[in-house]
Amino acid sequence: MRTFRIGRLFGIPILVNPGWFLLFVLITWLLATQVYPDALTTGSRQTHFLMAAASVILFFVSIIIHELAHSIVARAYRIPVKSITLFIFGGVAQITREATRPLNELLMAAAGPLMSMVLGGVFLGAWFAIGASDTRAIDYVLFWLAMMNFVLGIFNLVPAFPMDGGRVFRSLIWMVTGNYNRATGIAAWTGRGIAWIMMAAGAAAVIGINVYLANDAFGGVWLILIGLFLENAARQSLVQNRMVRTLQGFSAGDLMVADPPAIPGDVTVAQLAHGVLEINPRACYFVEEDGKLAGIISGYQMASIPAPLWPTTTARQVMVPSTKLRPAVREQLVSDVLLEMEMEELLHMPVVENGRVIGVIARDRILGVLKQAGLIPNATA
Ligand SMILES: [Zn+2]
Repeated sequence: MRTFRIGRLFGIPILVNPGWFLLFVLITWLLATQVYPDALTTGSRQTHFLMAAASVILFFVSIIIHELAHSIVARAYRIPVKSITLFIFGGVAQITREATRPLNELLMAAAGPLMSMVLGGVFLGAWFAIGASDTRAIDYVLFWLAMMNFVLGIFNLVPAFPMDGGRVFRSLIWMVTGNYNRATGIAAWTGRGIAWIMMAAGAAAVIGINVYLANDAFGGVWLILIGLFLENAARQSLVQNRMVRTLQGFSAGDLMVADPPAIPGDVTVAQLAHGVLEINPRACYFVEEDGKLAGIISGYQMASIPAPLWPTTTARQVMVPSTKLRPAVREQLVSDVLLEMEMEELLHMPVVENGRVIGVIARDRILGVLKQAGLIPNATA
């Protein structure tokens, strides 16, 4: 599903998954017709809908603040944050890299739930500040927001990796063992265990057993769904960790193709593209000026120029300039190279030595290694 961009905060794009709008309507409707009419019996139908809409919008803002808390700590450790996406189960900050130290990860992971607790406290405090009564619409809205933020904070602290609590748990094991990969394994398996317990409890609730977490079929189905979601996320992080470990076994020098074709910047796109793009749309050239890497031009950039303009457009004009790239070096681990390529959406990464291109790594070559290790199916490229 495509996401919408609704704005930018602290330079971080805020995206919304369309599924979220559905949830927005559903929760507003539930609050307005099921919850608030019983709470504020004197209110009109219109009041109940206004209360519901205000509650859901402010909760939505609370989730963004939770994700911003993670993001700002990440940034403080110079880990770039690509975006914050709100989807049906809440929010997620696209933090591009994992922390390199356990303490950093601990603070980064804990920041979100702590912020939710603080927000819960702020809403509860506001309710007390205006007299803590139960006679006005605003009392119920503030109280509901306080409770929801507390629930969000506590739910996120469940040690089910890759949720926040699971990350806190991993950073603690990492601190104790000094071994990041082992810590990830233990945290992910714990997460799967918790997910299975949730699903089992959900199934028990569906057949009528009171399991405290849920006591009816509806609650049971919810538990099963959350369990499935967590189990899937934990399993994916195990696979991802295995991929990273596999790629850590190679350096850029191992996988690069040496001496790739380099061209001067004044070559025209026509010279590069004619007869080449049709046969190999993934063609890629390095542009060198004064013996140094100046940029990279791939089939993608060439195809973005209308064919009639090819004879008058130079490689220099369409290349991705090297100032926008962080080229690999021979000793760099391939796991890091792939991360960089994913961030910049590149199919080829130059390997440089003293500013000169000495080789190129194709994304396909890296995926080939993962396929060989049986970590991705052969069908997907
Ligand atoms: Zn979080």
